[in-house]
Amino acid sequence: MKKICKTVPKNRRLFGKIMRGTITIDTEFCKGCEYCIEFCPKKVIHLSEKLNVKGYYFAELKENEENGCTGCATCAISCPEAAIEVYRE
Ligand code: SF4
Ligand code: SF4
Repeated sequence: MKKICKTVPKNRRLFGKIMRGTITIDTEFCKGCEYCIEFCPKKVIHLSEKLNVKGYYFAELKENEENGCTGCATCAISCPEAAIEVYRE
């Protein structure tokens, strides 16, 4: 039996199209728990060196890593504060 496709393709191709995406993080909702960082398969999120108004180091997309994001939404699903929005091309 042939496998037709995977849920999250290794090479970011789904039906011949490269998957690209980006995220926005509402930094004021972020508590710095790092779940999104842990679960992002492309490792394009890190903690900022800045603090938000509540005193947490917040998560952000790494600089120049926008193209690494596939828009898989794993980060948004793992965020307990619902602080992440995902956009897909
Ligand atoms: S959408 Fe996927 S690849 Fe993009 S930052 Fe979130 S977990 Fe990482
Ligand atoms: S999972 Fe949500 S609350 Fe936790 S660091 Fe990421 S954006 Fe912040």
